[in-house]
Amino acid sequence: MSTTARFSGKVVLVTGSSNGIGRATAILFAQEGAKVTITGRNAQRLEDTKQEILKAGIPEDHVLAIATDLATEEGQDKLINETIQKFGKLDILVNNAGAAFNDDEAKTGVDQNVSIYDKIMQINLRSVVTLTQKAKKYLVEAKGEVVNVSSIAAGPQAYPALPYYAMSKSALNQYTRSVAIDLIQHGVRVNSVSPGAVATGFRQAMGMPVETYEKYTQFLQSHKECIPYGSIGQPIDIAHIIAFLADRKLSSYIIGQTIVADGGSTLVMGMQAHNMMDILKS
Ligand code: NDP
Repeated sequence: MSTTARFSGKVVLVTGSSNGIGRATAILFAQEGAKVTITGRNAQRLEDTKQEILKAGIPEDHVLAIATDLATEEGQDKLINETIQKFGKLDILVNNAGAAFNDDEAKTGVDQNVSIYDKIMQINLRSVVTLTQKAKKYLVEAKGEVVNVSSIAAGPQAYPALPYYAMSKSALNQYTRSVAIDLIQHGVRVNSVSPGAVATGFRQAMGMPVETYEKYTQFLQSHKECIPYGSIGQPIDIAHIIAFLADRKLSSYIIGQTIVADGGSTLVMGMQAHNMMDILKS
């Protein structure tokens, strides 16, 4: 590992790194010289992330794997305390873990059960708030960076299929802005990335079978009003943006912003999805 790698000497904690965007992010940081704490509840998938990091030639003592539930305060304490114990500091916190849940009765919109609201807010918002509180002291010492993973579901478009998920992400965007201004006085930067559709375990975690997920992505990719770019995003596309926002040399003057990476999805309005001239001619 070259000592000139851009994150050499940095310690990074990536939540939700047992899968998807978090896994790609942890691997990228490790490849670029960082020591990484990886985490998730699923011990097997977490081990898979660790093995991928080791396969890339990273020394084992650069990786700390902690299987725990981030929705609990004990889990969060474990993450911070064990990271400090092993690596002695924390430079970069990536609040990436997140999920959406379907209502047992498949209700959407106003009727979606409020227990779903509680579960979603707990992992997508509350855990970000409390983990950032617990990390603050170390981030201030390191003059570090926080990168939150939001979503284009935050709006301004409506998201009636999963309103509480969308609300959790719009609240997260406001948290990013507000905390960025609070922490920059201590030299800590906070920013976020808002992905569009990305090929991860997210839908499977919601209970979508693999074949249905393939059908879903095929549809999105073949409809330019869904993804103008024409293909779904890959976890590494988002990992590169997270690394950019955590790299003070490249992004030092960006404070409290979210970078949208969605293949153009949010730029398309419904009324532009059809060729009006053809419709008016018929
Ligand atoms: P994945 O399901 O692939 O990964 C989610 C990660 O979060 C997993 O590592 C999972 O670990 C972890 N996680 C979820 N709940 C908990 C919990 N209670 N405790 C600890 N870890 C938890 O999905 P993505 O990679 O897609 O999701 C990453 C982020 O990206 C999320 O915040 C999501 O909202 C956001 N996003 C994703 C989009 C997409 O299209 N994929 C689009 C926009 C935003 P484990 O299961 O092992 O606990």
